[in-house]
Amino acid sequence: MAIHEKTLIDPSRLITSDTLVVDGVDVSGHWNTMILPRTLKEYDDGFEAHIKEYAGAENVHRCWQCGSCTNSCTMYAQNTDFNPRYWIYLTRLGLKDEILKDKDIIWQCVSCNKCTNICPKDVRPEGVMKALAHWIEAEGFGEKSNSTIFDEEFARQCIARGRIEDSEVMTNFYKNTNQDIKEMALNGWLGIFVARMNKWTELRNGNIWKFITRTPIMHSLHMGYSMFFKPKTKSWGHTGEVLSQYVKEQKELAHG
Ligand code: SF4
Ligand code: SF4
Repeated sequence: MAIHEKTLIDPSRLITSDTLVVDGVDVSGHWNTMILPRTLKEYDDGFEAHIKEYAGAENVHRCWQCGSCTNSCTMYAQNTDFNPRYWIYLTRLGLKDEILKDKDIIWQCVSCNKCTNICPKDVRPEGVMKALAHWIEAEGFGEKSNSTIFDEEFARQCIARGRIEDSEVMTNFYKNTNQDIKEMALNGWLGIFVARMNKWTELRNGNIWKFITRTPIMHSLHMGYSMFFKPKTKSWGHTGEVLSQYVKEQKELAHG
């Protein structure tokens, strides 16, 4: 099985003279290629332990660099710069700056788990990819992902009121991700979404009256009421505070 490799030699460290004669021998061009020495001083020897605290990355220390994960990876087939084996190697060495050079592609893991299935050491590379993506986000090295913004809104409502309102989660999610709901309504997406909820097939078959009678009017009114009055789960007050404190403590434990 081939091991897909990634070079650690930056092109900027390769030097070549176009014309060079040494002891009367012409060594112009590639004959005189030299690699400038590199000394890495910027490593974090606690980094592997830190990444292991993220769910899914607990076994990163088991990796023996066989390359099977990268070899089987769906994303590597699309982009040879996407290399789980390489990032696991950097994680183990604590080379955070090298990992951050690829911060714009690490999140592209599609969670197909082909790497995890093939790994002979049960490293669970998919979990390591997710852990690295979360670390980049938690440390503020990259933009918050849409899924994090969704989770934050979901958790905010749970903690504040002991329940969530679907319509409020969605509207705040669109707002916080700078998606224009009006524009979505105008280009028809929202209409299709609602029509699908309301038995789209009836409308498509020309049963307009049946479609209208099945429209969940009371449900829509209830959602509107909840958006406006924001009801809480009964006796939620103190429970919400305890939950909020617990979440804060867990975050501090995980991220310091
Ligand atoms: S994570 Fe598993 S499959 Fe990938 S290089 Fe390490 S041991 Fe091999
Ligand atoms: S889960 Fe991610 S890293 Fe693993 S094979 Fe699929 S795309 Fe690649």
